Amino acid sequence: MYDIVIIGAGPAGASAAIFAAKAGKKTLVFENNKGMTKRAWFENYYGIMEIGGPDLVETGKKQAEKFGADIKEETVQNIVAIDGGLRIETDAASYEAKHVLVATGVSIELAEHIGLATKPGTEPRIKTIIEVDSAGKTSMDGIWAAGTVAGVSVHAIITAGDGAKAAINIISELNGERYVDHDILKA
Ligand SMILES: Cc1cc2nc3c(=O)[nH]c(=O)nc-3n(C[C@H](O)[C@H](O)[C@H](O)COP(=O)(O)OP(=O)(O)OC[C@H]3O[C@@H](n4cnc5c(N)ncnc54)[C@H](O)[C@@H]3O)c2cc1C
Repeated sequence: MYDIVIIGAGPAGASAAIFAAKAGKKTLVFENNKGMTKRAWFENYYGIMEIGGPDLVETGKKQAEKFGADIKEETVQNIVAIDGGLRIETDAASYEAKHVLVATGVSIELAEHIGLATKPGTEPRIKTIIEVDSAGKTSMDGIWAAGTVAGVSVHAIITAGDGAKAAINIISELNGERYVDHDILKA
């Protein structure tokens, strides 16, 4: 059973995967190459002068893989509650996880299919979002949401931060204490 399954490898999902895998959690990420970030050009991402969306997304995935996250190109079609966790059904197979983070960008289809509580979005062109609390928890046990689909401002640095926030909260819940990931400057 995976500790964390993340649906989406855009800034929100990949950022969550970096934190989860670096914390030693067994992490699996799904993506189906339909994210919006690959169409963007960035000059407003802190610490990076400018970068194309495809480069940002590929670098994020490589960072997550460096720490041991698995990434699969499969479309998640369903999530079902099971004893001790959740079963994630894709177009190819099914998997089990203790926690699931939904980071599907503008796509609300899966959330609506499994019956997560939603509400109207407030950002331009984002019609419907998943209802989350301040930690990122949705209306269903063990299912969290982050990024555009959770209603934050539609900017890469904000969606990335929101994914990281949700991951840190999930890791903290798994560990039973608040989690912090700080590395010291190498000499
Ligand atoms: C043309 C354009 C220009 C932009 N310019 C800027 C800019 O200059 N600066 C800026 O800050 N922001 C910009 N943005 C916005 C930025 O791309 C988004 O705010 C942000 O990156 C969205 O991140 P996300 O992770 O929430 O979603 P996304 O990046 O859309 O990622 C969603 C992920 O979910 C996956 N997915 C969805 N459903 C499923 C499923 N059922 N199964 C498996 N995988 C699934 C997709 O494959 C994808 O990997 C721009 C956007 C566009 C479209």
